[in-house]
Amino acid sequence: MKHINHWIDGRIVEGASGRTGPVWNPASGTQQAEVAFASAAEVDAAVAVAKAAFPAWRATNLSRRAEVMFRMRELVDANRKEIASLITAEHGKVLSDAIGEVSRGLENIEFACGVPHLLKGGHAEQASTGIDVYQLRQPLGVVAGITPFNFPAMVPLWMFPNALACGNTFVLKPSEKDPSAALFLAELLSQAGLPAGCFNVVNGDREAVERILEHPDIEAVSFVGSTPIARHIYETATHHGKRVQALGGAKNHMLVLGDADLDMAADAAVSAAYGSAGERCMAVSVVLAVDAVADDLVGRIRDRIPGVVVGPGAEPDSEMGPLVTGEHRDRVAGYIADAPGEGATVVVDGRDGAPSDGFFLRPSLVDHVSPEMACYRDEIFGPVLMVLRVPSYDEGLALINANPYGNGTAIFTRDGGVARRFQFEVEVGMVGINVPIPVPVSAFSFGGWKDSLFGDQHMYGPEGIGFYTRSKVVTQRWPEPAESQIDLGFPHAR
Ligand code: NAD
Repeated sequence: MKHINHWIDGRIVEGASGRTGPVWNPASGTQQAEVAFASAAEVDAAVAVAKAAFPAWRATNLSRRAEVMFRMRELVDANRKEIASLITAEHGKVLSDAIGEVSRGLENIEFACGVPHLLKGGHAEQASTGIDVYQLRQPLGVVAGITPFNFPAMVPLWMFPNALACGNTFVLKPSEKDPSAALFLAELLSQAGLPAGCFNVVNGDREAVERILEHPDIEAVSFVGSTPIARHIYETATHHGKRVQALGGAKNHMLVLGDADLDMAADAAVSAAYGSAGERCMAVSVVLAVDAVADDLVGRIRDRIPGVVVGPGAEPDSEMGPLVTGEHRDRVAGYIADAPGEGATVVVDGRDGAPSDGFFLRPSLVDHVSPEMACYRDEIFGPVLMVLRVPSYDEGLALINANPYGNGTAIFTRDGGVARRFQFEVEVGMVGINVPIPVPVSAFSFGGWKDSLFGDQHMYGPEGIGFYTRSKVVTQRWPEPAESQIDLGFPHAR
């Protein structure tokens, strides 16, 4: 059985805790590897290495740090298919989707290549007479990333390019379900010329995470995962004095108004609900259809579902792969089983006709859902699309704003005025107007509101640079010695 280890100080380090977890092949349902679970002592070793690497890396000039990122950009670009194959093998998503994931991750390396520009602070000459004031942005030290299974390359890439470019050193704890892509990225960073010790990967479970949260030498924690864990990460790591951004789960609503292009809306709903088997934090999981078009829209979505090709991610024809584990597939299937008992109508049951090997479920559609049902309240994180019918825009908006999550949302309409009103009124962090998965490009930042984000800085882009640096303001005077005098008053402009 293949054994997956850690990456510490620029090389593979064998796990020594004796604890491991299974890595499945979701397309066949068999275990393909075991991954080492780090003990607290192994986390400590990685943090010590990152701490030792920090002074030299932070002193490395910006142009050299950018050069490493430019080389990393070329290496990831050249290895897109290799990285995508690792993702598909362990996560299950189809290869084209995995390549898309790598491309969106690559954007963040490109952004970090601009670090000499991004770290320019402000300067005010003659802020007071003979006094200049300027702002510096300096790295924090050792920072950690804890990432989910659903984007094993892209989410780490949301974090470490900016963190490293800003001069920090990094310890990554990837998802134990699909750890190989992160280790491959570590090797590429080393080939790109990043000094050993600046980027480390510790594999593991809760034990490794708990040590990261309390470790005195870790200055900041970036987390992406489910809401209960995000809340725990935020509360624990801030309690230990760390800067934290913890992105949580989602329940993303797509509001379809009466004037929308219904074919476009149905295509968008199918793509955004079933792509990556619904295992995306920006997946559309609820369609809010205004009554006037609800029957028509549900019919169009239903008619498209049989055309979705479900199969192993590595097969070129597959459009939707399996779910990540058997346990998760069974949990998702449970919501379809329970929906009629709650009063909903299962229009398409994805348990029918799914491939029997592997952790498959076909796309499912559930209509006449209401807000108190578990299938609406819970994040399902699978290929199950709920339809709620609403009388008008106002009731649709009220439902979105009452939802505890606030990650992504979309409106489909031809009315620019209503779309503009939606953008103004909706309490969600990322909004699509006739765009079903509004993941911001890397020049902006990514993050939800409410229970989808704990902390106050979103991930990557300008807020990522803010998160991974702290500001220092210098007030400077070069007086003539003859001007020196004692003045016990509080400094103020003269
Ligand atoms: P998860 O919360 O189970 O795991 C995320 C990370 O936390 C993993 O590294 C895992 O090892 C660790 N972890 C799990 N349980 C823990 C515990 N009890 N104590 C400490 N650490 C623990 O999430 P997942 O199942 O890997 O990923 C899916 C979830 O992530 C979904 O809820 C999805 O919406 C969310 N997600 C959110 C975003 C976003 O940007 N908001 C992006 C991707 C995924």
